[in-house]
Amino acid sequence: MSQQTTLAIVTPKFAEFVKHLPTVDDLAACDEEKLRQLWSGLGYYARARNLKKGAQCIVERRKGNFPQSYQEWLEIPGCGPYTAAAIASICCHEKVACVDGNVIRVVSRLLALQDVWSSSGQSAILAYVTRIQPDNRPGDFNQAMMELGATLCRKTKPQCLLCPLQENCLAFAKNCIEFCPPKKPRRDAVNVELFAVVIWRKTTDALAIVKRTKGFLSNTVGFPLIPEIEIEETKNLLKSLPHLQLLELPNRFSHSITHHRISAKVLVAQEIENASVSLQIHLLQDLYWVARSDINSKLSTSLDKKVLLLFQNYYAK
Ligand code: SF4
Repeated sequence: MSQQTTLAIVTPKFAEFVKHLPTVDDLAACDEEKLRQLWSGLGYYARARNLKKGAQCIVERRKGNFPQSYQEWLEIPGCGPYTAAAIASICCHEKVACVDGNVIRVVSRLLALQDVWSSSGQSAILAYVTRIQPDNRPGDFNQAMMELGATLCRKTKPQCLLCPLQENCLAFAKNCIEFCPPKKPRRDAVNVELFAVVIWRKTTDALAIVKRTKGFLSNTVGFPLIPEIEIEETKNLLKSLPHLQLLELPNRFSHSITHHRISAKVLVAQEIENASVSLQIHLLQDLYWVARSDINSKLSTSLDKKVLLLFQNYYAK
């Protein structure tokens, strides 16, 4: 949960999560709807799906027995080298180094290293941490390194005067802390232009959502998204349905998700009479109707929540 999300947000969500799903069997059997609700507000829903896949693997393939080593943890779906190292060292007391962004920063400063983002730089850091990790309490060592980076050796304003490693820190000695590590090269931004279609059944004040199975934001739940390049064709198809009224909301809005820069518009398709079946055929997606009052908790991305807000604001006028 705490990958990419702050502990202040994670802590109450974690307590709620384990209250509802106290065992690995509960998590493995949890339905999509409940999982989504327990995860809402944490973002990056793929992590929840991976967590469930991991639980299913432990229950089904391993008969409920948790892995006991780094290599065994690596075989669990969704568990990469970092997670496997953290669990194996902290829970199984195995001597295996755990390198996250905080540890990279600490090591970069301790050794005044500049080459930290290339694969050879990453291997050098892993090798260094592995070399200095003690046989005794390897999990505590990993946590101490991560904690040092999170609390004292911070990105800005590191607390060097309080740091227990100050005497051994080359960046401190050379007065080059601000250059260690250098800025991470950014992935090139990808521009995405699309339309979000809000299908509104005014008689019951319900909105239609879909489970996106392909394309942009696949494996998320929200409003149908149509690439801008296909919107004229989609509009023409929708206009051919007698039971729908189309309205394109004014103004385009921008949104960013990881390295995607999205520029979007909202198309409202208001249902005059039941048009579900023909809509499903035309959009090639199953529609799920949700009361407008409940829909916020069903949407799994911040983009969908923004679309909902624009729709609400427009029709509140
Ligand atoms: Fe980080 Fe400063 Fe400690 Fe060096 S002395 S490891 S820069 S906090």
